[in-house]
Amino acid sequence: IMLDNLTSRLSRIVKTMRGEARLTEANTQEMLREVRMALLEADVALPVVRDFVARVKEAALGQEVVGSLNPGQALVGVVHKELTALMGGDLGAAAGELSLAAQPPAVILMAGLQGAGKTTTVGKLAKWLSEGNHVQYGRKTGRKKVLVVSADVYRPAAIDQLKTVAAQVGVDFLLTEPTQKPQDIARDALDHARRHHYDVLIVDTAGRLGIDQAMMDEICDLHALLSPIETLFVVDAMQGQDAVNVARAFSDALPLTGVVMTKLDGDARGGAALSVRQVTGKPLKFVGVSEKLDGLEPFHPERMAQRILGMGDIVSLVEQAQKNIDIAEAQKLAARMKSGDRFDLNDFRDQLQQVKKLGDMGSLLEKLPAQFAQAAAQVQGGQAEKQLARTEGILNSMTPLERAKPELIKASRKRRIAAGSGVPVQEVNRLLKQFEQMQGMMKQMKKGGMAKMMRAMGG
Ligand code: GDP
Repeated sequence: IMLDNLTSRLSRIVKTMRGEARLTEANTQEMLREVRMALLEADVALPVVRDFVARVKEAALGQEVVGSLNPGQALVGVVHKELTALMGGDLGAAAGELSLAAQPPAVILMAGLQGAGKTTTVGKLAKWLSEGNHVQYGRKTGRKKVLVVSADVYRPAAIDQLKTVAAQVGVDFLLTEPTQKPQDIARDALDHARRHHYDVLIVDTAGRLGIDQAMMDEICDLHALLSPIETLFVVDAMQGQDAVNVARAFSDALPLTGVVMTKLDGDARGGAALSVRQVTGKPLKFVGVSEKLDGLEPFHPERMAQRILGMGDIVSLVEQAQKNIDIAEAQKLAARMKSGDRFDLNDFRDQLQQVKKLGDMGSLLEKLPAQFAQAAAQVQGGQAEKQLARTEGILNSMTPLERAKPELIKASRKRRIAAGSGVPVQEVNRLLKQFEQMQGMMKQMKKGGMAKMMRAMGG
């Protein structure tokens, strides 16, 4: 199923709202309901959604709607910011960082249900570390000498599977036997890693299909024996809502240090990331994005927030708008538009300049959510920019008086303006015609949202 993204849901509501300068209890209520629905559809757990929506509401109320944004876009901005923060946006550089012990070997213990992707992730991490991709305090720490071992003596193929994975990524594998006790395997492996000066020892463990007391007891034993510097909870993004209970069980039993979320290459909306982060209070450190052993990426809270909201790059659009739009200018303009019929070509020129400030039109259009994709397709190849430049040229060739009173522009003035801007007279006519239509539109809606402006310009 194609899930409707939050942005398009909100813009539907926004259509019924007149230009409002602030996010208020009244104008956000309906939108917050949509935020809630969108999060539930993205598989965020209900209690987490409740908390989150309350936070967003608190942050949103009273906020100014900046520049050319409409209240819906402004709210998406707030939602995204809060979501990013909640997922550890504040951790910043820590994305993808592991704590590696000053005194090697650094032990990494893997925990999670069967099928979550533990063994695969052991291989990915081993590759990551042995190839020197690991970053700590913002710097690469060099190639690590890595040993991997499996303490999964229950699933017959588990040890073989890790052996194959280790061979694929070219790290050392310590052979264990299904007849050994997991605790003995842990002791042996630690001893072996110390004697052979490994930088890192990664210990794969047995998972069960569900939460199981015997499994929890065993992994707690292993934790006590190994004193791992990292205890990573591996969770499948496709688990959706269920991920919460599993995360809670592991988090209660073990002092986790971080989370790896796998299978984000599937169509999971990623809501589990928010739930797991919330329930464990631990940072998501990596995400798995492929079955292949190079499919590991540091976790980026911001990207995950965008995935959950299903909103393309609307966020950078919002940010750009907040950065670039001259707020005072925009407010002045909005005030003039609201005052009714007084929208002239001078205002039109100001609008164009603001649109230009938003940056390259092509990429701007790409950043708009899906419902504008069509419009974007029409203006490929810098067409929109060229058109914008020509329009501006024509406007610049007019006198301020002409721009204020377009009705003055008769044949001889048209010829002068056309010559001045190097376009045929018909193009001046077309602009004037377009402007007339736009003026009519302005009267109707009394406020020009940017999207509408752009559609009008695309003509
Ligand atoms: P374990 O039981 O926790 O050790 O899980 P495995 O490592 O055996 O993984 C279970 C299945 O998930 C295997 O088929 C893996 O190939 C697959 N898998 C693991 N991580 C990812 C991932 O990030 N993306 C995809 N598409 N598949 C993954």
